[in-house]
Amino acid sequence: MIDSGTPVTNVAQMAQPATVALFVSDLHLQASMPRTAEAFFRFLHDYARRTRQLYLLGDIFEYWAGDDDHEPFNRKVIDALRAVSDSGVEVFWISGNRDFLVGAEFAEAGGIALLPDPFVADIAGQNIVLTHGDALCTDDIGYMAFRAQVRAPQWQQEFLARPLEQRKAIIAGLREGSRAAQRDKADYIMDVNAAAVAALFDASGTAIMIHGHTHRPACHAIESNGAPRLRYVLPDWDCDAQEQRGGWLALTPDGKIERVGLDVIQTAS
Ligand code: MN
Repeated sequence: MIDSGTPVTNVAQMAQPATVALFVSDLHLQASMPRTAEAFFRFLHDYARRTRQLYLLGDIFEYWAGDDDHEPFNRKVIDALRAVSDSGVEVFWISGNRDFLVGAEFAEAGGIALLPDPFVADIAGQNIVLTHGDALCTDDIGYMAFRAQVRAPQWQQEFLARPLEQRKAIIAGLREGSRAAQRDKADYIMDVNAAAVAALFDASGTAIMIHGHTHRPACHAIESNGAPRLRYVLPDWDCDAQEQRGGWLALTPDGKIERVGLDVIQTAS
């Protein structure tokens, strides 16, 4: 026997160590941002397929008018997610404030499990509370009222009963209104509220929280109820802008949470 006992080294494995779970949010995928979509597809192909669980934590799509919107772009994203779930990875989804109309048909097509917001995940012996993050922005009173309205099952039923083109027109108007409103909002209003964060830590009994939404990537160490807690914030993605940004969090087998930047993905420029 030749070379018996020689460790087999796999270059791909060395470059990309195994992870237990990946967390990503706020891609704001839309056909008009092809480079961002391309970077996301590379992330799915090169990283998500090599992990055990993939958590999509909201605003993966810039908007979602309903599962009956079979736009080719949507189809492409669903197919890419399907390739991940077909490869044996568990794919989980928490809706964001932009894609909350995702439903059972989408989940079925992508091989995705829809989770409530918030959700406590038990991953490799660690309890982590996962949320998109918009529900924590309680200082934004106007948004919280809007959120309560559009998350009500009856509102959603009535909205989804409208013709698709009408829904898309309404959403376009809402997006424009939201852009205008954001320009006038104070900085702190657009961030999470400390008491809301503490309340979620206390209610979930976890030491770790992961969320997106605010586009303020960070890891905040805080104390709540006398115990240390870590709040990880995911970045948003934009590879169509001059200065590209994006990334994800990876949970390693030894229980570490690592931030991974877009530089590992060689985006075409
Ligand atoms: Mn959001």
